[in-house]
Amino acid sequence: MKIYNTLTKQKEEFVPLVPGKVSMYVCGPTVYNLIHIGNARPMIVFDTARRYMEHRGYEVNYVSNFTDVDDKIIKKAMEEGVTAEEISQRYIEECKKDMQGMNVRPATTHPQATQEIDGMIEMIQTLIDKGFAYVAEDGTVYFRTRKFKEYGKLSHKNLDDLRGGNRSLLVTGEEQKEDPLDFVLWKPKKEGEPFWESPWCKGRPGWHIECSVMAKKYLGEEIDIHAGGEDLIFPHHENEIAQSECCNGKIFARYWMHNGFLNIDNRKMSKSLGNFFTVREIAERYDLQVLRFFMLSAHYRSPLNFSAELMEASANGLERIVTAVENLKFLSANAQTAEMTEAETQETASLSEYEKKFDEAMDDDFNTADAISAIFELVKYANTNVSTESSRAFADAVKNKITELADILGLIVEKKEEVLDSEIEALIEERQAARKAKNFARADEIRDILLKQGIVLKDTREGVKWERA
Ligand code: AMP
Ligand code: ZN
Repeated sequence: MKIYNTLTKQKEEFVPLVPGKVSMYVCGPTVYNLIHIGNARPMIVFDTARRYMEHRGYEVNYVSNFTDVDDKIIKKAMEEGVTAEEISQRYIEECKKDMQGMNVRPATTHPQATQEIDGMIEMIQTLIDKGFAYVAEDGTVYFRTRKFKEYGKLSHKNLDDLRGGNRSLLVTGEEQKEDPLDFVLWKPKKEGEPFWESPWCKGRPGWHIECSVMAKKYLGEEIDIHAGGEDLIFPHHENEIAQSECCNGKIFARYWMHNGFLNIDNRKMSKSLGNFFTVREIAERYDLQVLRFFMLSAHYRSPLNFSAELMEASANGLERIVTAVENLKFLSANAQTAEMTEAETQETASLSEYEKKFDEAMDDDFNTADAISAIFELVKYANTNVSTESSRAFADAVKNKITELADILGLIVEKKEEVLDSEIEALIEERQAARKAKNFARADEIRDILLKQGIVLKDTREGVKWERA
């Protein structure tokens, strides 16, 4: 498996620190509003990378944070006259709903910055003790950037160029910095802002320190993959590297992955430009599976331009797969024979050819566009090779291969069958009758059938009750 590493600007063979295991940290959103579809891009592409690595047999420890203390959250709270916590909790919940809609699996851990303040104070103190950070008169703690000799290694920036460029950025209140390149680790509170006690002043952490601390706590001092949008390369990820490597004395992350921007009219979609669609707005018009398909139809590192035409094309593409699966289900249900013929058994060997193509594409730095092409080829194969003459087993094998590959991309292509209340009740009645006749095997069988359809039975004093799980 090859991954393009921003650190080396090359595709590299992926070798995890611990064989069979992957530790992965993905910078999550700042929660002060509904997420827009630009924020959805890293969620979808890195969820897909995770799914693929699991398919390849890795056990993936996937950590993605919520930044729940930030100027924008505080501003929004002030506007609404509520606490910052109320704003962040509200939008974390909303973000989780969007993730579910896009079939983005919850991370192994979703840490929140405000719950990790102790760890941040500890790391900042270590940096001060080691001489990598200093406290200014007003209690602000700065990182001494020049002290870290490798600063700039991720963004491939030269310290002196940065210094030149940054001189003009020295704004009032920052004269206390020893060097314009120094960045904030801890800052004093302002009137009405949430704050925490610290050895330096009542205040709150800078943004970069959050991720260094959460990655260390949940994944360790050295991690395999660190990911996020390409706008985070500088300064956020560069600063994370500086903090973590100076504190821990170890290489922080082996592979740095960055997704390209989602653009609209060839400009970055962002809240500040106001040119965005929220995931919620898209959900009013499309199934969010279409959005997922759209995101995966391009390589994650390429810029992707959002347009109604491309969304329509994605809707059609997804529909082609869904229809093929529906068709295969119909052929399976109506097949004349159950077992595969000799010829069919031989044919199934070609199914693994499609999977091989799919894996080769994904092994090449998660080329989801080519992986989708492999699924389309399989759909074409299904449409020409499975017919009313085919056995049930053959139709099922082809269908299962399509759904399995789509599932690795997190695409749901099999429509869930709605079980009617009347059907459930008829089965429950049959189960009662079976019990009366002491046919417990059949009664248990019916319970299992219902369970498979997500129906849970409860025996109560008033009789049998059921609910959808
Ligand atoms: P933010 O809430 O702005 O910190 O963003 C959360 C994540 O979304 C980060 O990984 C950003 O890089 C990413 N992101 C924000 N806008 C876009 C965009 N237009 N295209 C792709 N990724 C984006
Ligand atoms: Zn981060």
